[in-house]
Amino acid sequence: MVAVPSGMDPRWRSLRRPTREFLRALVDLALPPACVACGAPGAELCDPCRRNLLWRRGPACVRCGEPVLVAGRLCGGRHDELRLITRLVAPLGYAGTGGALVRRFKLDADPAAAGWLLRTMAAAWREAAADGWRRAGLVPVPLHSRRRRERGFDQAAWLVAGLGVRLRLEPLTGVLVRVRHTAPQGDPRVLSRDRNVADAFGLRRASKVRDRRIVLVDDVFTSGATTRACAALLRAAGAREVAVLVACRS
Ligand SMILES: [Zn+2]
Ligand SMILES: [Zn+2]
Repeated sequence: MVAVPSGMDPRWRSLRRPTREFLRALVDLALPPACVACGAPGAELCDPCRRNLLWRRGPACVRCGEPVLVAGRLCGGRHDELRLITRLVAPLGYAGTGGALVRRFKLDADPAAAGWLLRTMAAAWREAAADGWRRAGLVPVPLHSRRRRERGFDQAAWLVAGLGVRLRLEPLTGVLVRVRHTAPQGDPRVLSRDRNVADAFGLRRASKVRDRRIVLVDDVFTSGATTRACAALLRAAGAREVAVLVACRS
């Protein structure tokens, strides 16, 4: 279970109703012990699911998080996928249990999976973040209202609310908005992921972002096209640096 209080920080009240209802469900549900990834009765993560977690741990590239021999070094890659992004923090690979947890969280609104991912992301950020990020703002990658209606909640805004409390960073939900509905990035009809999200986002309240470090939050980092489009807007609005925090990198 997730320790998320319902009579929480006033900032949480600014969340949309489905998000608040989802949060309340976290508090109200008293689930019997079961694996958060596959639902098998027993431990929080059953042995097969635990073995299938692809942790991105150990000495890692300070920019992209790929394994390196010496901690604090760069991996030598071009990092084109991280244009305008200072660093990517993603504790898990999407293959295996990481992806299963994200799907349970996003598609089934499963509170146990949600809580596990939230704790894991918070721990990964604490481990990775340098002092300069203590006053950073958390910005969720925005979901179009149509998709939020289909899904019933906005997974990135939900993560930002929980991370805000755990990491004591200011949630800046609503600063980035989706101004255009786009096909899902994984849709086979999408030939260019960058073109698919071009001009899909808008920025509100630029003063919240100016001269500040921003942590862009989402569940998964795939091609990076969505996060790059968001980072471009944030940097154009004067953000000093943009980092990305997700649960999984695929
Ligand atoms: Zn399991
Ligand atoms: Zn790297």
